[in-house]
Amino acid sequence: MTTSDLLNATTDRSPRDYVRIEHQLGAHNYHPLDVVLTRGEGVWVYDTDGNRYLDCLSAYSAVNQGHCHPKILAAMTEQAGRLTLTSRAFHNDQLAPFYEDVAALTGAHKILPMNSGAEAVETAIKAVRKWGYEVKGVPEGAAEIIVCTDNFHGRTLGVVGFSTDPSARGGFGPFASGFKVVPFGDDQALVDAITPNTVAFLVEPIQGEAGVIIPPPGYFARARDLCTRHNVTLILDEIQTGLGRTGKLLAEEHEGIEADVTLIGKALSGGFYPVSAVLSNSEVLGVLRPGQHGSTFGGNPLACAIARAALRVLVDEGMIEASAENGTYFMDLLKGLRRNAIRDVRGRGLMLAIELDPSAGGARRYCEALRRRGVLAKDTHGDTIRIAPPLVITRPQIDWAVEQIDVVFGTIDR
Ligand SMILES: *Cc1c(COP(=O)(O)O)cnc(C)c1O
Repeated sequence: MTTSDLLNATTDRSPRDYVRIEHQLGAHNYHPLDVVLTRGEGVWVYDTDGNRYLDCLSAYSAVNQGHCHPKILAAMTEQAGRLTLTSRAFHNDQLAPFYEDVAALTGAHKILPMNSGAEAVETAIKAVRKWGYEVKGVPEGAAEIIVCTDNFHGRTLGVVGFSTDPSARGGFGPFASGFKVVPFGDDQALVDAITPNTVAFLVEPIQGEAGVIIPPPGYFARARDLCTRHNVTLILDEIQTGLGRTGKLLAEEHEGIEADVTLIGKALSGGFYPVSAVLSNSEVLGVLRPGQHGSTFGGNPLACAIARAALRVLVDEGMIEASAENGTYFMDLLKGLRRNAIRDVRGRGLMLAIELDPSAGGARRYCEALRRRGVLAKDTHGDTIRIAPPLVITRPQIDWAVEQIDVVFGTIDR
């Protein structure tokens, strides 16, 4: 095949072709819904046949600001034509303003930019271990980190090593040691797990991948208190819950607490580019010195310009408040649905979930039926449909989505 053959070959594909070629040439590590998307704008995405869908997944909350937000796009294209990557071997004129914006917005004292969310998690783990040895006085090699059952913190080897999901970890060992698992939402189990060698408690404010699991009231206040008393770093993974998804800038605000280390990613770029960051008090990130940690792309000027624009539109366009108000509105409508297959409706802000009765036959077929009615949602953990649209969704759009959901349940329930 010549180069021009390759270029020609990319025209005139049918949706079937795209699916077939993906299946043929790609690793099968995903099981996507049967839709081939080519364009997005706000809450809407369009398939290659021109059909329109309301996006109720938002790329796992990476496009909180809506697809192809024009202001983020403008910042990206402007910066892409000027300077994209310098590596951290040199300074660039976008990193400092990015730090200033993130610090002003979140109150962080120190920030470390990475790319994917999993890298931010790995970075935090490295930093708290080093902090444990150098500051807390834990004997070298003995640092322990406490994590929760059904956690989701990404897909790297370090991270899946402390997953409790057999499909995430099965067949990938051996894994790093130094992690203890306690039940999510159980502060007595947390007390019992803390030892003098515990350097951190790593936890999601709401477990998204596990099915939008909200812990009992007061859990985080007690966990915060325990961490403070035992000199344990509280690391909140807000990669999914952060940046407006739950109706606050950070989900920790619902609990009235402040983490020592906060991880953000996903919507930090509005879906344009992988950008993540570790936010901390200076003590924890302060232990990293030149040469001890890094990333070729972390903190690059393109990422910084995109992230600054993504944060600005989130705040300037009132998306966080809208998430709180429209999330309540959406949840009330879903709670009003009287369908046998619905066991529970829960959520916070626009991070919503419909849990199905175990007899309903799984969430996947509901998601497929929703797709046929123009709503894209994703099943998680078998029986849960996650509903997490871009935060720019309007009330008429919510009304329409609920109508489609009701029709689908009406059809399948019978
Ligand atoms: C998505 C996610 C991650 C991993 O982010 P990637 O960018 O996919 O590596 C980590 N933690 C939570 C809570 C997430 O939702």
